[in-house]
Amino acid sequence: MAKGYNTNQERLAEINRLGKELAKRAGFCCEWCGSKDDLRSWDQAPEREPELSGLALLCGRCRDLATGAAADPNELHTLRNALWSDIPAVCEGVARVLLRSGQPWVREAIEESILDEQTRHKLLA
Ligand SMILES: [Zn+2]
Repeated sequence: MAKGYNTNQERLAEINRLGKELAKRAGFCCEWCGSKDDLRSWDQAPEREPELSGLALLCGRCRDLATGAAADPNELHTLRNALWSDIPAVCEGVARVLLRSGQPWVREAIEESILDEQTRHKLLA
């Protein structure tokens, strides 16, 4: 069996294991928009060892946004509160989606957010 396959299976098993804790942290709501639809863990950094801070519990719609679906401007405002999360997968992940929209208020919202300076620079560069 190829090594990549094994590693991938192990990753998925690890993410499943973290899933319960993640759901509890999230209060069984989407950590970006608060929806309760089709919640699943989303992995912000698939190239890294899975850990709770790199995972967010997201609804189906937010997972689509995370993987590049275009958001409509009204929808983006419902995501704004997630910028105040201290969990990297929640605030950085949502910051990327917001920035991609190119809405004028986004940069300002990110500058006001509690993201650390290094991350803000990286995002706004
Ligand atoms: Zn959502």
